Amino acid sequence: MRLSRYFLPILKENPREAEIVSHRLMLRAGMIRQQAAGSFSWLPLGKKVLDKVCKIIREEQNRAGALEILMPTIQSADLWRESGRYDDYGKEMLRIKDRHERDMLFGPTNEEMVTEIFRSYVRSYKDLPLNLYHIQWKFRDEVRPRFGVMRSREFLMKDAYTFDIDFEGARAAYNRMFVSYLRTFTRMGLQAIPMRADTGPIGGDLSHEFIILAETGESQVFCDRDYLSLPVPGENTDFTNDAEIDGIVKEWTTPYAATDEMHDEAAWTKVPETHKLSARGIEVGHIFHFGEKYSKPMGAKVTGPDGKDHFVSGGSYGIGPSRLVAAIIEASHDDNGIIWPEAVAPFDVGLINMKPGDAGCDALCEKLYAAYEKAGKDVLYDDTDQRPGAKFATADLIGLPWQVIVGPRGVGDGTVEVKNRRTGERDVRKVEDLLASVEKAA
Ligand code: ATP
Ligand code: MG
Repeated sequence: MRLSRYFLPILKENPREAEIVSHRLMLRAGMIRQQAAGSFSWLPLGKKVLDKVCKIIREEQNRAGALEILMPTIQSADLWRESGRYDDYGKEMLRIKDRHERDMLFGPTNEEMVTEIFRSYVRSYKDLPLNLYHIQWKFRDEVRPRFGVMRSREFLMKDAYTFDIDFEGARAAYNRMFVSYLRTFTRMGLQAIPMRADTGPIGGDLSHEFIILAETGESQVFCDRDYLSLPVPGENTDFTNDAEIDGIVKEWTTPYAATDEMHDEAAWTKVPETHKLSARGIEVGHIFHFGEKYSKPMGAKVTGPDGKDHFVSGGSYGIGPSRLVAAIIEASHDDNGIIWPEAVAPFDVGLINMKPGDAGCDALCEKLYAAYEKAGKDVLYDDTDQRPGAKFATADLIGLPWQVIVGPRGVGDGTVEVKNRRTGERDVRKVEDLLASVEKAA
């Protein structure tokens, strides 16, 4: 992509409304535009990151055996009357009437709808386990939308729903999502800690919030430092092996970790002082077993091996991709701007032409640009006539992992500078060596 053709509305000044660094940087880097309280448009740079986050989520959901669907945002109130939640949900639900005066709503979540799909088709335990997910916009009329996309009213959610014949099956399904989440967040360069969360009237211990430690987090959390060095399950994890998955969940639930609501002072005092980590955290995911909460009132049942009908045992599993984009920035930035982990960076490389119009600089930039494109790398080529200082500032602000800087002096002796955004290190590289390594990476 040539920057001269791109839409990157960078802000020079710090926007006054932004209270936390991710909100400030997302506005300054032209990633999002606020349209109303808690409602945002995603501009090209932001949309690219959001897509990369969703791609990782998809890959890890699919790997764990979940199947992607897509349900509507607007739902019928009648469905919610069946579960009893239409009246319970309160003011966070945006209620709408259609032209026939029928009660509708903008979905804050999809348990009812997915249960309706399930009960319409599935009859036998032989069709289980089943895990259906989608990535779809949600609306919750939050009392206090704030921090940009971190707590907005309209936000993107990946929500998965599992259906099993009994509690044992549901626990295995829960475990698969648990392990899938560990891999998902790690691939985005985040360290997420699963913490025991409130199960409400359902009871049991099958509810975890996945928390990123950050000063600006809205939750107070308590955990053992051991979490910071636990090995994350690899690509070869066998999601069809219940025992293997259960072993990983045990390892990741043994050290102490709880959010404020679940904090247990007696258990906390047993954690050695040097291991205690009490911090602020951002909830990026939440998994929850709810058993027959929806299947019973909505009549979602299957015939079991015993020939009898069983209400299915269910769970739901959320991740907030839009909140994650902000959380990644909270975890990875410096005074100059964002530092994208490579896996979610909007472009792999920023190519900076220090002197557009100079025949040598232009020719070398075109050559490098073509080589990167051919190698399948996403390049943002700064071919604008901004001054070098402004170009560097932009490159640092938008946080691409690598910057390749082409200036007249280098062109003379066949070299370019390659800067690593994270470490700030600058290497002078021979053009032919750089081209060779780009080709090799293809
Ligand atoms: P919170 O406690 O932060 O209000 P929640 O418990 O209501 O979140 P869930 O229903 O568990 O959220 O939703 C699943 C995921 O969706 C959350 O873990 C979070 O990543 C994301 N999410 C929830 N509410 C918002 C919001 N208002 N803005 C952005 N993302 C959100
Ligand atoms: Mg939650």
